[in-house]
Amino acid sequence: MRRPMVAGNWKMNGTLQSVADLLNALKGEKLPENIDVAVFPSLPHLQLAQQIVQGSRIQLGAQDCAVQLEEGALTGETSAMQLRDVGCDLVLVGHSERRELQSEDDQVICRKFIAAQAAGLTPVLCVGETLAQREQGQAVSTVAAQVDAVIAGAGVQALADAVLAYEPVWAIGTGLTATPEQAQEVHAALREHIAGYDAEIAQQLRILYGGSVKAANAVELFTQKDIDGGLIGGASLKADEFGAICRAA
Ligand code: PGA
Repeated sequence: MRRPMVAGNWKMNGTLQSVADLLNALKGEKLPENIDVAVFPSLPHLQLAQQIVQGSRIQLGAQDCAVQLEEGALTGETSAMQLRDVGCDLVLVGHSERRELQSEDDQVICRKFIAAQAAGLTPVLCVGETLAQREQGQAVSTVAAQVDAVIAGAGVQALADAVLAYEPVWAIGTGLTATPEQAQEVHAALREHIAGYDAEIAQQLRILYGGSVKAANAVELFTQKDIDGGLIGGASLKADEFGAICRAA
């Protein structure tokens, strides 16, 4: 059985005060024992977040890391080693907002994935198709190619220490959630595709769904056979809503 994960991607939101308030409220939520819960605050908030979640069951992640692992003259970059040093367990890699807004391609994403694992972080690899790709019948081939690019560079074995997140670009922040059937179809196809490399790794790999998940639609998504929890954006910024989503997993 795969252990579900519910992860909150806080994106570029919050202040020291609001992050402290949100985490303290989240610690007061009833979180199911049998799932992993993680939050991904902005960089300036990681150290404070680490102090607050320390000793709790909430895991900490960052939203991005540098391609380079070694420290050096890389203005504005943050290495996976530095993220590990401030107490991160996880890091998002290949979120569609970075693919689009920062022009990150599959090669860059693969290098970040490798850097994350080299530093001892668990990468959460995000994949997803645009609306145009879906309308052209290319949803599955798009996400399969995004996974293939990482396997080509890191090897399929690397997926044993990673989490995959399927996030259709058209569903992120739009209020348009994939139907449970649409999501399940892609999750199953991804798992089958990865099974072509290694059946056991495919079976054990957690595949989260992301894209306008909220408490009201979480149960129907998370009860799908190949959906192992969620990556939550907007709805993770409220402790009671995020707590309810965790309880749906
Ligand atoms: P959303 O974002 O839940 O606000 O759609 C999800 C994500 O980008 O991870």
